Amino acid sequence: MPNITQLDQEFVWHPFTPTDSWLAAGFKPIVITEAEGSWLQDESGKRYLDGNSSIWTNLHGHRHPQLAHALHDQIDRISHSSFLGLTNDVAPQLAEKLCRLANLDRCFFSDDGSTAMEASLKMLWQFYQQNGQPQRQRFISLSSGYHGDTIGAMSLSHSPTFHQTYKPLLFATEEVMTPYCYRCPYNQARPEKTDARKTRRCHWECLDHVEKCFAKNSETAAAWVIEPRVQGAAGFIMQPETYLEKTCNVAQGHGAKVILDEVMTGFHRTGPLFSFQNEDVKPDFIALAKGLTSGTMPLAATLTTKEIFDGFRGDRSRTFFHGHSYTGNQLGCSVSLASLALLQEDNFAPEHEQRIQNLRHLSQRFWQLDCVGDVRQEGFICAIELVKDFSTRQPYDPALRLGALVCQQATLYGLITRPVGDVLVLMPPYSTSLSELEKMVDALYKAIEEVILSL
Ligand SMILES: *Cc1c(COP(=O)(O)O)cnc(C)c1O
Repeated sequence: MPNITQLDQEFVWHPFTPTDSWLAAGFKPIVITEAEGSWLQDESGKRYLDGNSSIWTNLHGHRHPQLAHALHDQIDRISHSSFLGLTNDVAPQLAEKLCRLANLDRCFFSDDGSTAMEASLKMLWQFYQQNGQPQRQRFISLSSGYHGDTIGAMSLSHSPTFHQTYKPLLFATEEVMTPYCYRCPYNQARPEKTDARKTRRCHWECLDHVEKCFAKNSETAAAWVIEPRVQGAAGFIMQPETYLEKTCNVAQGHGAKVILDEVMTGFHRTGPLFSFQNEDVKPDFIALAKGLTSGTMPLAATLTTKEIFDGFRGDRSRTFFHGHSYTGNQLGCSVSLASLALLQEDNFAPEHEQRIQNLRHLSQRFWQLDCVGDVRQEGFICAIELVKDFSTRQPYDPALRLGALVCQQATLYGLITRPVGDVLVLMPPYSTSLSELEKMVDALYKAIEEVILSL
C-alpha cells in the first residue's frame, strides 16, 4: 500500500483545515479505510465510534445492507443520465415521496446543501422579478447562521470567522440576533444545571428583533431564512420552543416567504421527519441534503410550493436557468428511496424515541463537570458547552482551542466527533446501540476531564 499520509500531505487540500497544523511535523491524520454500523476503522485496524455521523450525514450506520443493495441494484442498471430534457425512472419517485412527506408540491434536485440553498434563493429572486414584486430583494436571517459555502449561501449566512474575507463578494442581507438562550443578553436567569432554554427569564426580546426587522423591511423583505430549531455550525444553538413558528408567522405576515434550511436537521435528526414538523409551520421552501442519502451519495433537494412553481409558467423567458450536471442522479435517488423506506418501517418511530431518551438520560452526567455550562438536546443531537466559569458563563480563551483538544483526546478512547469552538456534540447514527451510546458518552466525558486537568 502506498504511504497515504505522505500522498495526502503532498497533494490534498482539506476543507476548513488550517494548512500549517495539517502539515506540521509529527502530525499524522487518522486514515479511515472501512466502516460498519456506527463504527469507523482506520488503516491500523483501530475502531472509532462515529460520534457525529460523519459530519451529520449518516442515518442508518455505515454499510447498511439495504442501502448497499439499492446502490448495487441501481449501478447494475444505470448510474447517471442527464436530467436536461430527459427524466429517469427513479428521481420522480423520490420527488413524489419528499413532496408528500413535507406537504410541498415540487422538488428540484442538486448535489449538496449549499446548492440546495442557492437554488431556493435564485428561485425566489426570479419568482419575485417575474411576478410583479421585484422590490422584494431583502433576505433576513440569523446571526451566526450557516447555509453553505457558495456565494449566495454565504450571503444568507452570518459567520464572522467563515465569511469576513469574502464580504465584498457577498450581497447584503439583514441579520437578526440569534435566540441563544444560554448566552442571551436578555436572559435574566442565573445559570442552573439544566438546559438554559428551560429556565430562561425574558420577554421574548429575540422575537421583537425579528418583528422590528420585518416591519422595517415590510415592502422589500424577500424571505426569512432559518435552520429550523437548531443552528448547527453556529455551535448547536437550540431555539426556545415555538420560536420557529412565531418568527415564520411574522415573516409570512409581512408577505415574505419562509426558506427552511433542513440540511442538518432533516430526516428525524430533531425528532419528526423534518424539524419544522415539531411546530406549526408552513414553509415555502425547504432545503435537504446531508441525511438525504444517509451518508452514501452527494444529493440534495429543494422543495417548494405550487405557487412558486407556477410563477415560472408561461413563455420561455420565465425558465429557471439553473441546474447541475448530476441533477436527478439515479444512484443518489435510489439510495435515498431505500433510506426513506427504512425510516418508514413500523418500529422506527418507537425505537427512535427510545434512542432520544437514552441520549437525554446519559448526557445528564456531563453536568457533574464544573467546566460544563450548558447541556442541550434536540432530538438525537446533544451539545455540551464548556465554560471557564459556570456562574458567570465566562468562556475559555479561544486560543486554547479546548473543544478541539477534547475531541483529539476522545479519539484515544475510540470516539470521533468534531466540535464547534468549545461546543462538543454527540449526534450518532441511528444504528447506535445503547451500549455504543454509553461508550460515546464515556469517551467524551473522560476526554473532557483529562484535558481540563492538564490545563
Ligand atoms: C452542511 C450544511 C449546509 C451546507 O451543505 P453542504 O452539503 O456542505 O454544501 C447548509 N446548511 C446547513 C444547515 C448545513 O448544516
